[in-house]
Amino acid sequence: MKHLKQIAFSQRPVIILLVMISLLTGAAIIGQAYYFVAIVEGVFLNNASFQAITPLIIGLFVVLAIRATLTYWSGRTGVKMAAKVKKNFRKSLLSKYAKNPVQASMQGQSGKKVSVLMDAIDDLDSYFSSYIPQMIQTAIVPVMILVAVFTQHLYSGLIMIITAPFIPFFMALIGVMTKKKSEEQLDKMAAFSGRFLDTLQGLTTLKLFGRARKQRELIKESSLGFRDATMGVLKVAFVSSLMLEFISMLSIGLIAMEIAIRLVVYEGISFFSAFFILILAPEFYQLLKDAGSAFHTGRGSMVAANKVTDELEEDVPVVEWGSAPLVTKNQPPEVELKAVSFSYKEEGFSLLNIDTFIPAYSQVAIVGRTGSGKTTLLHLMAGLVSPTEGQVRVNGKALSDYKEKDWFEQVSYISQHPYLFSGTIAENIAVGGPKGSTRAQVEQAAEKAGIDSFIKSLEQGYDTSIGEAGRGLSGGEKQRVAIARAFLKQPYIILFDEPTTGLDLQTEKILQQSLQELSRSSTVITVAHRLHTIQAADQILLLDNGKLIGRGSHEELIQTVPEYRDMVSVQQGGEAQ
Ligand code: ATP
Ligand code: MG
Repeated sequence: MKHLKQIAFSQRPVIILLVMISLLTGAAIIGQAYYFVAIVEGVFLNNASFQAITPLIIGLFVVLAIRATLTYWSGRTGVKMAAKVKKNFRKSLLSKYAKNPVQASMQGQSGKKVSVLMDAIDDLDSYFSSYIPQMIQTAIVPVMILVAVFTQHLYSGLIMIITAPFIPFFMALIGVMTKKKSEEQLDKMAAFSGRFLDTLQGLTTLKLFGRARKQRELIKESSLGFRDATMGVLKVAFVSSLMLEFISMLSIGLIAMEIAIRLVVYEGISFFSAFFILILAPEFYQLLKDAGSAFHTGRGSMVAANKVTDELEEDVPVVEWGSAPLVTKNQPPEVELKAVSFSYKEEGFSLLNIDTFIPAYSQVAIVGRTGSGKTTLLHLMAGLVSPTEGQVRVNGKALSDYKEKDWFEQVSYISQHPYLFSGTIAENIAVGGPKGSTRAQVEQAAEKAGIDSFIKSLEQGYDTSIGEAGRGLSGGEKQRVAIARAFLKQPYIILFDEPTTGLDLQTEKILQQSLQELSRSSTVITVAHRLHTIQAADQILLLDNGKLIGRGSHEELIQTVPEYRDMVSVQQGGEAQ
């Protein structure tokens, strides 16, 4: 990614505008000093009449007005530039997260992501809204002032030239010190928000294990750490502005003394020049000091920019999609896995070399011990993650050749823990369906999923709010909402991660019926735990620690794969109880 400076300077018109504003500001500052001195000289030394100085007074007011306008204009330009850059950064971050939502949500803390997306990007603001405009101004206006001073008096100009470098020197020195501090501060902030969100999400678990108090301590610690880091940054910032103030006061004093001696003792300088220089000198140092504080905010932004860049450049495997249309010819597409391998990271769990063919309308059951890779395999088949090696093929073509939209239109994925958006139940069901589904269609889908009567028993029925902002649903209810989504969508391929926990008989039966009905019009691939589903499947895939150790019908596997036989007998034993 580009450096922040490059980003700023790639916006040419804005930079040119800022340069113009700076030139005009310089002229306004000098003009203001000129008019002010001329008025004072006219009134106090030359006893000029009011009429004689009226044009000067008007001139002064005009210049003041121009200066104020320029300040406003420069600020506005900077803020606009900042807004544009922030928008672009947020867009790239979002599209990065969206490119591979599954992987993105599996890796790293969500709290940290939120902190980067909101706070770190907001921290970029000051770089563009104050640092860049200020730096351009500092590069131009002091030089103009210096030239003006030199035309009046050589020695004052020399004093300015000699003292001025001390300010950037101290700025740089302090900058080096704050860089580390503000990096630390941002880290603490990210850690703090991450911890806070994690805790919120896991509150139930933490309470159950009596860890709530411990967690409170941790949050307290984490927030105190953040406070200390912030205070550290502020301390350095205050000390640095004190230092800068000191240097500029000293320099102005030096110039004043020199001028006073020349004016009173040697009489080698006119009152006009002396007063003119005395007015310009503070402006000169003020600009350098402003650059100093802009520099600090700029520093903070650079640290934040690194955070954003790191997040943007973090290597997550991306699911690439092509542009081929998926033509379904009124039947489910055929799915084939060819030597598919997948691993989450270099080391750790991996699925190895999976081959299978899934014809239209078939029912596939994926079975295996917990952690054997069933959900992972389902993610691969759904196109949520892409294989590290091998290919998922659909209708004889690589899945990644198709348009993303075309594929997902054909697929419903009912996960182990379906996600409910905050909204009403009706909205949550309609989210899966075609645009503009009517309430009647939603209700019909809910009825097929066996959740209609439950929803109607709620006080507000289909308009009950659920999800983060509303009431909760049980695991089984959530899955039935997800199944209702599938009924509404009528996809050709249904991927279903069955709940591992036992359901009550009633729910089981409804699930069974629902799936049977869905399987009439679609290919159904189920991560199956119930013997019933397993036996009914045309094809069973038995996974063991990421490897496919058995493939075939129930009878075939019973005959040939001892691990399968063991599994079934354990299940039957369990069922008999
Ligand atoms: P269960 O029956 O309990 O749902 P599963 O067969 O569905 O298990 P998977 O969810 O596919 O198992 O996980 C397979 C393995 O991959 C597990 O060992 C798990 O720890 C690991 N795993 C899952 N998600 C990730 C991830 N995001 N990063 C690294 N490893 C992961
Ligand atoms: Mg699973």
